[in-house]
Amino acid sequence: MALFAKDNDETISAWDALPGKLYECLECQTPLRLRRSYLKFPHFYHLSTPFFCRLYSKSEKHLLIQYEIRKEIPQVFIEKAFPTIQRIADVVWEEKKIIFEIQCSFITEEEAKSRVKEYGSLGYVVVWILDDQRFNRKAVSAAEVWMRTQSSYFIDKHFVFYDQLETIQDQKRIQRGGKMPIELSPLPIPAHAPKQLQNRIHNKYYFKNDVLDLALQSQITFLPKPKVRIKEFFNRYFKRPYSSFLDYLLKIDCGR
Ligand SMILES: [Zn+2]
Repeated sequence: MALFAKDNDETISAWDALPGKLYECLECQTPLRLRRSYLKFPHFYHLSTPFFCRLYSKSEKHLLIQYEIRKEIPQVFIEKAFPTIQRIADVVWEEKKIIFEIQCSFITEEEAKSRVKEYGSLGYVVVWILDDQRFNRKAVSAAEVWMRTQSSYFIDKHFVFYDQLETIQDQKRIQRGGKMPIELSPLPIPAHAPKQLQNRIHNKYYFKNDVLDLALQSQITFLPKPKVRIKEFFNRYFKRPYSSFLDYLLKIDCGR
């Protein structure tokens, strides 16, 4: 399903399209037609199953999340084509050079990395929006492990965007904090942020009320693990008792 299609050389929104007319898919170029029933909003559907098309496999939830982002940030573009890399981004915020990639289904780590790399080559930062009906489960795919080191947030069934504190080990989510609802208003990364958040920091932006923002607001200090102080250990358990014992022997000796 798609919200936009090609009409001759123009891009047309499903809201402006005519029923019965043939349109062309922005991605796979196969014929599309408008449908007004079945979902709460008009959309295009493919007349045949294409060999490969990301728009074809988009679910209703995917389209609704696109609308939800546009509700929060009215100036974004939905389904914008990037012909040089042959991709169609879900939601593009031109002013901030941010691309929101919505993920409601399985993705490979390789595909996730290549999207970030290719959009990055055009100067865009990818922010992942992960549907928590599919992600944020106990078992974590390799792609999700990686995306959680990037700018990524979850969205729940009530369309709340959120972040969370968590521990993932061996592709298992072993600890999970409560939902931290975020606002889709990006903040620039400060120059001196806690080192432990470096993975998030290289993404250029973080969002209001996410893990990084709350950490910075509350000035949580991420202290390094205390080093074993060998010298102190040696002094306390060997040198001092040994010296005391020697003193004791000397005292006995002098006392004779
Ligand atoms: Zn298509």
